[in-house]
Amino acid sequence: MSESLFSDAKQRLETALKYISISEDAIEHLKFPKASLTVSIPVRMDNGSLRIFQGYRVRYDDTRGPTKGGIRFHPDVTLEEVQSLAFWMTFKCAVLNLPFGGAKGGIALNPKELSKMELERLSRGYVDAIADFIGPDIDIPAPDLYTSPMIMGWMMDQYSIIRRQITPAAFTGKPVTIGGSLGRDTATATGAYYVIESINQLFPSAPQDTTVAVQGFGNAGAHIAELLFKAGYKVVAVSDSQGGIYTKNGLDIPSIRQYKEAHRGMKAIYCRGTVCNIIDHEVVSNQELLTLDVDILIPAALENQITEVNANDIKAKFIFEVANGPINSAADKILGEKGIYVVPDILVNAGGVTVSYFEWVQNRSGLYWTLTEVNHRLKQKMVEETKHIWEIAQQHAISLRTAAYVHGLHRLGEAIDSKGTRDYYVNG
Ligand code: NAD
Repeated sequence: MSESLFSDAKQRLETALKYISISEDAIEHLKFPKASLTVSIPVRMDNGSLRIFQGYRVRYDDTRGPTKGGIRFHPDVTLEEVQSLAFWMTFKCAVLNLPFGGAKGGIALNPKELSKMELERLSRGYVDAIADFIGPDIDIPAPDLYTSPMIMGWMMDQYSIIRRQITPAAFTGKPVTIGGSLGRDTATATGAYYVIESINQLFPSAPQDTTVAVQGFGNAGAHIAELLFKAGYKVVAVSDSQGGIYTKNGLDIPSIRQYKEAHRGMKAIYCRGTVCNIIDHEVVSNQELLTLDVDILIPAALENQITEVNANDIKAKFIFEVANGPINSAADKILGEKGIYVVPDILVNAGGVTVSYFEWVQNRSGLYWTLTEVNHRLKQKMVEETKHIWEIAQQHAISLRTAAYVHGLHRLGEAIDSKGTRDYYVNG
């Protein structure tokens, strides 16, 4: 699956190349990751046994600056998956015009099976293994699936111990008290919300009559559900890895967040306690949630959730990809034919890396910004790049995804070519 994920990711590049003229050198350059590292991380478990975990870090392309990308803890992590995610990060940073290339990292494990102390030892062990591959001017990791600010704090601390100097700019998404940025915890969702706001004039009805389903109720999913709820949208379904809940009159998202935090799972909400008393909900599977008849569908969990198998059953009018790679290229084609607007991951979820960039800038300057300042700058970037992508889509009559790739490719191509092209060497 993962290997095809990488070829699938590169297929988007092939499609975009039809609408932009960039040098063959740049195309060749973007086909391969710059450097891929696989490490074995020994961890002493609480019962005294030793377990070895497989970890990865991929720096895909650093032409536009040091590479940037999250670290995920998940059983399905493979080198190929990390390469695909690093490829997407390269385009995402270019789309948002951040002075970064793309990277990604991960460890194959089920984090729910580890104690907090085992997780800390694993996080520090990962940094021991990759320390020479990362750094504030080389590659700057951040949180992703099942990694939290505390984990970023442990990692930054371990990196500082290795370097014998406090190095907050080596990791982003840290707790605010040790150099994290205000607004980073909600940045992915806030950025997605600005993108939704930028094109909400296309929605068939006012927010109170616009229905929304969100798959994944973690950092990104829970926050976007809450932002939309607070803006008056009718969030009718949410889910996590255990399953989902649906009610046609709309869910009370803040109560669900409180329940999830207290009981560590959506299952705890099923017909227990006050949420069940105040709302009349149905239980839905993750697959059922994706095919609900809603105006807006927000996949905010894992990749490859909408494929050629279920794309025909999707009824939403708009899909905003908060997760990375939730729709494969075969499904894209089907959704396009059905007239569904798909707003792509490399734009929609780029608020996370944008505020990570702000965090890195604050760490390096030593001057920290207010939340208002962070969100103001984030909004400016998200709205401006959404507008560019919208215009490119209109100009070529292409999907927003292809337009986003064209936009990113333009910047990447120029940067790669500035180091010299075939024309320069052969004809110059
Ligand atoms: P998270 O670990 O905070 O939350 C993940 C959520 O997905 C949890 O609610 C989990 O229960 C749920 N989930 C896991 N497997 C599922 C399944 N099979 N079906 C439905 N739900 C499932 O992770 P996150 O940081 O919110 O990341 C979610 C997605 O957003 C990922 O694709 C990630 O790459 C992307 N993303 C995150 C950030 C960020 O800053 N956190 C930035 C950009 C993109």
